[in-house]
Amino acid sequence: MRIGIIDAELLGRDKHRFPNLVCEKISAYWKGKGAKVVLLYDYKELWKYDHVYISKVFTDTPCPQKLYDETWLEKHPKIHIGGTGFYFNKAPNLPDEIEHHMPDYHLYDDWIEDNVRKAEESAKLNGKPFNKNSYMIQFKEYLDYSIGFLTRGCFRKCGFCVNKKYDHVFKHSPLEEFYDPTRKKICMLDDNFLGCPHWKEMLNELISTGKQFKFKQGLDERLLTEEKCEMLFNSKYDGDFTFAFDKIEDYKLINSKLELIAKYKKNKSVKFYVLVGFDSTDAKDIENAFVRIELLLRYGCLPYIMRFQNKNETPWKDSKYRTLYVALARWCNQPSIVKKMSFRQFCEANQALKKTKDGTLCSTMKAMVDFEKEYPEIAKKFFDVRMEEHRKITEER
Ligand code: SF4
Repeated sequence: MRIGIIDAELLGRDKHRFPNLVCEKISAYWKGKGAKVVLLYDYKELWKYDHVYISKVFTDTPCPQKLYDETWLEKHPKIHIGGTGFYFNKAPNLPDEIEHHMPDYHLYDDWIEDNVRKAEESAKLNGKPFNKNSYMIQFKEYLDYSIGFLTRGCFRKCGFCVNKKYDHVFKHSPLEEFYDPTRKKICMLDDNFLGCPHWKEMLNELISTGKQFKFKQGLDERLLTEEKCEMLFNSKYDGDFTFAFDKIEDYKLINSKLELIAKYKKNKSVKFYVLVGFDSTDAKDIENAFVRIELLLRYGCLPYIMRFQNKNETPWKDSKYRTLYVALARWCNQPSIVKKMSFRQFCEANQALKKTKDGTLCSTMKAMVDFEKEYPEIAKKFFDVRMEEHRKITEER
């Protein structure tokens, strides 16, 4: 039996670097049955395989149009497609025997080796040095982590989220189902881990492995308590603690949770996703983004701008403030910049790089100047806010 597996993101997104867990589980399942499993690098010659599985996570990942055609798929019953990239929030579940299978953490080994070989050859050809260690960093999620879901589901039903299938958080896989002790770290893909009534026992189990771990999709800060903060911030957490501040209506609640986080975070890095362009793409939306960013900077937390898009629309791109959205994301999403510069300083630095003699404004600077002319009060309040100064004030309290 020959099984072909396609990770659509691997083929459709150049910079994508995260293993597809479904592909890894399907691979392990079929290898367990003695099949020859091949990770495919294109959509050609699929007929060579007894079954081909194509998994796609993001709706905007390019892949052949015929895969969206039910009639075509009916005629090709050995091609199986799945994932939120095809079905958005209606993606069917995997059969239990695959869903609860230990993933094949070696599915991508040959692909990684190929990449290393090509990069080495290209460096040689161009007479450049090749630093394998720094090159390999991009593959760390494939090589260093055990990956899985301890829980599934979420009860919040946010309008912009694909996760609407369930209305509560429940235990999904025991840790041993996907934990490989030979791997350095553990990565959870849970949607709302802290919303599960069993969070404490599972967190204790994670901590007792002695490994570094992270929740890739972030954690729900609205559910933080003293006990949760104490356990999380004293654990061997891997990288930034990630939360989300999506709605301005949560301002008071988030403010109180930031007070709590401040008690425990010490010098640990805390990042918040800041959703923009969902409720609207007007000046109010821009102001709401700045209000949230200001609060986060005040507590020494990093804002990360997420511009809303779904499979059919990317509203911020049609906005009058399109360039401002880009500038905002470029300012916030580079920690070394947002830690040191205000929004105005960032735009001015862009302008300085442009070095125009006739005084033409670069697009970033123009977006800022135009908005400031239109809404001087918003600009006055937020364009000069700096994390460093905020931090001094907070530390002096
Ligand atoms: S809290 Fe997170 S996982 Fe839950 S619905 Fe909202 S965005 Fe989705």
